[in-house]
Amino acid sequence: MKKPKVLHNFYKSPAWLAARELKIMSVDGLCERCGAIGIEVHHKDRLSIDNVRDTSVSLNQDNLELLCRECHNQEHERFSNKIRFDKDGNLINQEKPK
Ligand SMILES: [Zn+2]
Ligand SMILES: [Zn+2]
Repeated sequence: MKKPKVLHNFYKSPAWLAARELKIMSVDGLCERCGAIGIEVHHKDRLSIDNVRDTSVSLNQDNLELLCRECHNQEHERFSNKIRFDKDGNLINQEKPK
């Protein structure tokens, strides 16, 4: 899947790189969910071409979360609606019955 250009440009902007660094330093570089080395900064409110210019979303430290790759993948799979979790955090497979 190709990223829209406006998002691609955002991820290269000095403002984002600074916000990202700040986030990483504020949590000592560790994944906020499992404590592994965090490498990817996730937007809790997903970035879109509509909100990327709204710095209260795109650059807000409170909207950022440092995750390791595994937790980040999980987060995005969860949003894809193919995978769901029950209230105890257990995986529920959402394969549609035929
Ligand atoms: Zn993690
Ligand atoms: Zn993310």
